[in-house]
Amino acid sequence: MEQAGKRAAWRAAQPLPGAAAILAGVLLGIAIGIYSNEEGRTARAESCLANARCIAYALHMYAQDHGGRLPKASGQEWVLQAYPYLRDPLAHPSFRNFNALYCPEDREASGGYRHAVHEIERETGKLDYASEAVFARMRKNGSRLTSYEMPKAVAGVRLEDIRSPAKTVILQETEPRHDGYAAVAYADRHVEKVRGR
Ligand SMILES: [Zn+2]
Repeated sequence: MEQAGKRAAWRAAQPLPGAAAILAGVLLGIAIGIYSNEEGRTARAESCLANARCIAYALHMYAQDHGGRLPKASGQEWVLQAYPYLRDPLAHPSFRNFNALYCPEDREASGGYRHAVHEIERETGKLDYASEAVFARMRKNGSRLTSYEMPKAVAGVRLEDIRSPAKTVILQETEPRHDGYAAVAYADRHVEKVRGR
């Protein structure tokens, strides 16, 4: 009898800790969700800046081989001239860092790139990440070539003719994708997050 009474008391007490545990679990879940979401956004903004840095290097290397001048084609067309120079300093020299062309928040452009690569693979049986054929296919499909554009003002300009390299933008995101901020690269190759470019 005493035993049963204890059990009844236990059962009566049970719902509260149970509900509290569930509530705590839900709150923790929300907190983790917010935290990792926030962390993810920060990481994606960082990797976008790393992309801009990588492309700025590529543009400089392109200039070294072309009389000190940046690619003549502005907008997104710089890609067609400068993509052979997209290198990852930590990887084999033949490796082209095509990921650098796409902001992690710009799924549309990277999706268009992957789609073109798949189409070409399906038709030719060859995996091609790095050729004019990929960009030609993207154009045909109406895809954007990259998440970054070169301002018209610097297209074809000689790097040494730029008076304030630390203030002259040579590359920027086509829109601000990071909570109102966009990744920007300057002629001296430093990168920054700039509000609303
Ligand atoms: Zn970005």
